[in-house]
Amino acid sequence: MDNKKMNRRDAIRAMMLAGAGLAASTSLAAPLRAAGAVPQNWKFTEPAKGDQVIHRTWKSLGNESISLLGMGCMRFPRKPGAGRRAPLDQEAINMMIDYALDHGINYFDTAPAYGDSERATGEALSRHSRKDYLIATKMSNFSNAELEACKAMFANSLKNLRTDYVDYFLLHSIGSVEDFNKRFKDNGLLPWLQELRKKGTIRHLGFSFHGSNAAMKELLAMPYTWEFVQIQLNYVDWKNMPLEDSDEACDSETLYNMLAEKNIPVVIMEPIRGGALANVPEGLKGRLAERFPHLSPAGVALTYASTFPGVMCSLSGMSNMQQLMENVYTFSHFKPFNAQDNEYMMEMARLYNANPHIPCTACRYCMPCPRGVDIPGVFGVYNAISDELMLPDPANRKEKGYKQKRDAFLKRYATLAKDSDASACVMCNACLPKCPQRIRIPDQMRKIHKLVKDLG
Ligand code: SF4
Ligand code: SF4
Repeated sequence: MDNKKMNRRDAIRAMMLAGAGLAASTSLAAPLRAAGAVPQNWKFTEPAKGDQVIHRTWKSLGNESISLLGMGCMRFPRKPGAGRRAPLDQEAINMMIDYALDHGINYFDTAPAYGDSERATGEALSRHSRKDYLIATKMSNFSNAELEACKAMFANSLKNLRTDYVDYFLLHSIGSVEDFNKRFKDNGLLPWLQELRKKGTIRHLGFSFHGSNAAMKELLAMPYTWEFVQIQLNYVDWKNMPLEDSDEACDSETLYNMLAEKNIPVVIMEPIRGGALANVPEGLKGRLAERFPHLSPAGVALTYASTFPGVMCSLSGMSNMQQLMENVYTFSHFKPFNAQDNEYMMEMARLYNANPHIPCTACRYCMPCPRGVDIPGVFGVYNAISDELMLPDPANRKEKGYKQKRDAFLKRYATLAKDSDASACVMCNACLPKCPQRIRIPDQMRKIHKLVKDLG
């Protein structure tokens, strides 16, 4: 790749992404700084031209060298104007993927369930040599698990991704053993996938998981060979990742240890918990900066998740060039945490969990809601206000600062589009089975709607 040409093109695009009409520059960071797109409290350091993200090599995967930072392709940038309904911005995606490859990222994770992501990823990647990148995609057979429909979904993935083989193929989002049986076993899909693996159409077969510790144990005891497994892991969920719809225990630590014991390489999803750990409350931000002054909050979260030696790749769903550059910087200067750092992070998790949160990662699997509720938007407002310690308690109106909190909450809540707030929810439950975080969405909507009414 022509680096000089690449850098100038990236700089111009970075300005566009930062929304600034600034003079062309050979530095990506300069226009981002000038446009105010870089957080005030972060010493933004642009990755140097030759910086390369760290790789780990996996014997069990044929000595494959995989970048420890993987590009999650679920949150790609969209064209301005129509919010989440706007089409993907292919030009911006091409720029980001070029920059990623140029800095050593070689793992790209997508899925049929991510809207137009497979097609956009395929378009961007196919401009490069196929040997320079690894594609991970999934069997997202949530609505139709019949064998023929699954085969058609796989064929469509190959077409969209402009390839005749998939490097890492995952059974998408297994929530329980029953779910696994229904979507992958009883329909005869697994023998077919294993045939594809023999032929090399699938190079490595694994699954992504959103279930309990007990379900993982049961799955791993079954007579199948899993070459890698994708789990949710971050410092907040390390000790406890409660499932709202179940009393079964779930935590990243147990899931990770079960896989590490079997030497199964682990792919990490939600290391920044859908972006929430990039925007932590001010107090927590200060504590993180005290110990890790060279890292942003997102950098801390990614380093925590990637420190564990069984981690093959940590996925970050990047939406703009700034996030990509920040992550490239973190992983090209990667220094794993030591035992004291990890202990410190458990204290940070306790601080974070002191505020109530709805564990929504804004994945949007639950959307669209037939009644137009902006489910991740409503939860995002609730969580942001909670993080700012501005959650009002209508049962405690005499509390100091109550009016200020009430006004702040209602003002933020009013930014949701008309008829898309919690009042529009009719408790139809259509969203309930779609949420990988197992959030009891209708109950949460009722709770938030009641809070708003009580504040009125
Ligand atoms: S339960 Fe509420 S939020 Fe969920 S799909 Fe139905 S109306 Fe939408
Ligand atoms: S409620 Fe669940 S499915 Fe919907 S965006 Fe949040 S995490 Fe994803």
